[in-house]
Amino acid sequence: MQAQKKGVLFVFSGPSGVGKGTLKAKLFEEFAGQIAYSVSATTRAPREGEVDGKDYFFVTRQEFEKRIANNDFLEHAQFAGNLYGTPKSYVMSLLDQGINVLLEIEVQGAAQVKESMPESVSVFILPPSIEELEHRLRGRGTETEEKIRERLAASGREIACAQSYDYQIVNGGDLEQAYRQLRRVYLDQTQKAYPN
Ligand code: 5GP
Repeated sequence: MQAQKKGVLFVFSGPSGVGKGTLKAKLFEEFAGQIAYSVSATTRAPREGEVDGKDYFFVTRQEFEKRIANNDFLEHAQFAGNLYGTPKSYVMSLLDQGINVLLEIEVQGAAQVKESMPESVSVFILPPSIEELEHRLRGRGTETEEKIRERLAASGREIACAQSYDYQIVNGGDLEQAYRQLRRVYLDQTQKAYPN
C-alpha cells in the first residue's frame, strides 16, 4: 500500500498592503479543497469586520505566552508591538492528511519555518515601489498615522529579506499577472510533491 502523500507547506510573506490577501483569496478559490489556510493566533486587537477564529484567534498576551511555553506554535514572532503565532498541531495534521497549507506570516516567523521545515516553499510578494505601498496602505484606511509609519518602517526591513525566499513575485498593479506567477509556483510545487 502506498503511504499517504503529505501536503505542501507554503509560506507567504510581504509588506502590509502589498495585496497578499487578494492573491491568497484567488488561490483558494481556484484550488478549493486542496489547500487550507492556517488561522494564526495574535495579541493584536481585531480590526473592524475581523472575525475571531476566521481572520485570527484573538488572544491575550498571557494566553499567548502560555502557548509558547507549551510549545504549541510552529513559529511565533513580534510584529509592530503585537505577538503572532502559527498553531502547530493544526498545520501538521492537515499536512499529514495530504492537504496543502498556506501560512501568511512575517519574515522572522518565515525564517523559523524554513529552518524547522526546509521542504516548505516560501514566496515573497513585493510591491513595485515603497511609494506605491504607502499609497495602498493609506488607501486601505484601517490604520492610524502612527501605525502606518510603523508598518512602513517594518516594510523596508521585510523587503530586505525577500531574497532569502524561494520565490519573489512583484504585484505591480496587474493582479492577474502576479496571480499567474503564484499559480505556476503552486502547480509546480504540488506536482513535484505528487508525481502521479
Ligand atoms: P496584520 O496585523 O496586518 O494582520 O499582520 C501583521 C503581520 O503579521 C503580517 O505580515 C502578517 O502576515 C503577519 N502574521 C500574521 N500571522 C502571523 C503568524 O502566525 N506568525 C507570524 N510570524 N506572522 C504573522
